[in-house]
Amino acid sequence: MFPVKEKLHEVLSTLQPGVRLVAVSKFHPVDYILAAYEAGQRVFGESHEQELAVKVPALPKDIEWHFIGHLQTNKVRHIAPYITMVEAVDSLRLLREIEKQAARCNRVVKVLLELHIAEEATKYGLTPDDCRRLLDDGEWRTMSHVQICGLMMMASLTDDQEQICREFQTAADLFDELKARYFADDPAFCERSWGMSDDYRLAMAHGSTMVRIGTAIFGPRVY
Ligand SMILES: *Cc1c(COP(=O)(O)O)cnc(C)c1O
Repeated sequence: MFPVKEKLHEVLSTLQPGVRLVAVSKFHPVDYILAAYEAGQRVFGESHEQELAVKVPALPKDIEWHFIGHLQTNKVRHIAPYITMVEAVDSLRLLREIEKQAARCNRVVKVLLELHIAEEATKYGLTPDDCRRLLDDGEWRTMSHVQICGLMMMASLTDDQEQICREFQTAADLFDELKARYFADDPAFCERSWGMSDDYRLAMAHGSTMVRIGTAIFGPRVY
């Protein structure tokens, strides 16, 4: 078995104070998750509803599950009963559906708005202007079963560190702007979810509060 506990401790020892770890366990087996759990990790990220449907019942109840991938609206009702945070909200339509399904479960689901800054055309997410429009529109203020807690983004897959830094900084600047314009009185809007195995050190240098790390803890994924 991959040395999950050792790798987890290695990663944790490199996190800046105040930065939380989401251990990204997608495509990894339940016993890997349990190994991290036994080493103290409680927050795990997954990106497929059907994988969660198998893993959640098999694992301890005090795990905080974050949905980190692209979420189709027709999948929301399956995860609404237990998901703690949906990290990649990329449309008002998805936000409405989370509100509706969380209300049915009498829960409040935390969400992050997913920013699209990276150059890859295939990535999902809201442009900075989409974000401003969504928040200007104001419908989110009427939603009592979703809590917008901040922004999430993925930097471009590139070796160009300066480009990665520019993208993280763009996200950090937008966070500050949105915080001041829409969430100045809302302490819950505080999360900046950026940084993965290969770039989390750069991300922390650009204001990340939450890193989503898979490979560095669990090893390579077998798809
Ligand atoms: C898979 C995934 C990660 C983790 O990536 P690693 O490179 O394995 O650390 C982080 N964020 C998102 C959105 C992912 O889909």
